This record gives sequence, C-alpha cells and structure tokens, in this order.
Amino acid sequence: MPKVALTTADETIRIMSQREIEQNLNEANLRWFQRKIRAWGKEHLRDFPWRQTKDPYTIFVAEFLLQQTDAPRVVPVYQQLLKEYPTLSTLAEASVTEIADIMKPLGLHYRALRLHQAACLMIENPVYERKIPDNETELLQLSGVGKYMARSICANAFGQTTAVLDTNISRILQRFFGLKSRIKRARDDHFFWELAQRVAPSTNVGFWNLALIDFGAAVCIFREPHCDKCPLRKRCKYYEMR
Ligand code: SF4
Repeated sequence: MPKVALTTADETIRIMSQREIEQNLNEANLRWFQRKIRAWGKEHLRDFPWRQTKDPYTIFVAEFLLQQTDAPRVVPVYQQLLKEYPTLSTLAEASVTEIADIMKPLGLHYRALRLHQAACLMIENPVYERKIPDNETELLQLSGVGKYMARSICANAFGQTTAVLDTNISRILQRFFGLKSRIKRARDDHFFWELAQRVAPSTNVGFWNLALIDFGAAVCIFREPHCDKCPLRKRCKYYEMR
C-alpha cells in the first residue's frame, strides 16, 4: 500500500494510519460508492453521438477528439470528420492537411497528424488487420493513444471491464475516500489506477466510466464542488472535513 494522506479542501492535513486507509477502502464503502454513482449515472448521463454506438472506429475517432477538449465542442467536428471519412481506410487515405482543417476548431493541431498516423498503421501493418484492435496492448502502440484512451475504447467498443482514470475521476476518488496522491498528478499514480479498477463494477464498465466522467463534470467539479446536492456526501471524507 503506497503512502497516502487524509485531505481537506484538497490540502494534506495529516498522514493517515494504515488502519484508517483500510477503513476508508473497505469493501462495504467501495460498494456503496459504486451503487451511488451508478444510480446517479442512470439519471444524469449526458447524451453524445459517440455514446449511441458500439462501432470501434467511430468510438476511436471520438476518443481522439475528446482529448483535453470539452465534449460539447467535439460534436460538430466529430460529425464532420465521420461524414468525410466514414471508415478507417478512408481516414488513412486522407491527407493530414484535410484532417487538420476539419479539426481546426478544437485546436491542438498535433492530434490531426497523430490520428492520421494511427489510421495508417492500422491499415498498413498486418498485425492490425485493417481494424481497431480490441486490446489495450495493441492500442497503446498507436500514435497519440495513451492508457486512458486505450482502456476507454476497450470498455466502450468491446464491452471489456477496463476502468479509466483521468483528472476528474482521480479528484472524485481522492475527495470521497480522503486520499491524496504523493505524486503531483494522481492520474499517473499506479495506486489510483488500481483503485479506479477496484471500485468499478464487474459488468457494464463503459457505462460506469461515463457516469464518473459526467459526475466529475457536473457535481464534484474542481472549484466549489456541489456537495449540497451530491449523493455521496453522507460518506464523503472531503465533505466531512470542510
Ligand atoms: S460531497 Fe462534495 S467533495 Fe464529496 S464527492 Fe460529493 S461533490 Fe465531491
């Protein structure tokens, strides 16, 4: 078990004992957290076109566009990109300039090049059989694909039980369980990746990931979280110590 600390207002106030850590992460507490997030997700999940499909290619494109970008801004670019390049092979045949033109409203121009490189590799390298791979290892070999994206694609497109961790999810986990990563970015902390998987249900993890993402965007936001209307507040360590 790595060293973690009890926190309030996201500041460390004291080091937790091993016993306190174990109490916070006990099975009953993990399952309670899981039930509350799932119930919240059933009522509040946002509706985006890439959430209405299981097609690996369109989910792959969406994940690429969603990197460091608010989801509502992605919608028109996603639709335009799929209209112009409805398949992986048409995307690989396009020029980087054409792709970059469509992606321009989102900024981060390097993504167009990486998206094109990834598409070309999947078309040209026989290992990929001209399709989006269904496993984290092969996805991680693609340009621009990191752990979050690879696991999100596995969950959303292939129904695998791969939980994800990003800044928002790590913030929820830290606040609710009263933990703080000892490295600067909790989303890079192996302990929090393990915790993210541990709190996830055994089925429908794609839905679970989305529920946590939306919960972090709507309720447990970075500044001034909406604790008063939060279904987790009864057991939330952050709320307890405010
Ligand atoms: S009670 Fe507040 S800090 Fe705790 S999970 Fe809910 S919104 Fe986040």
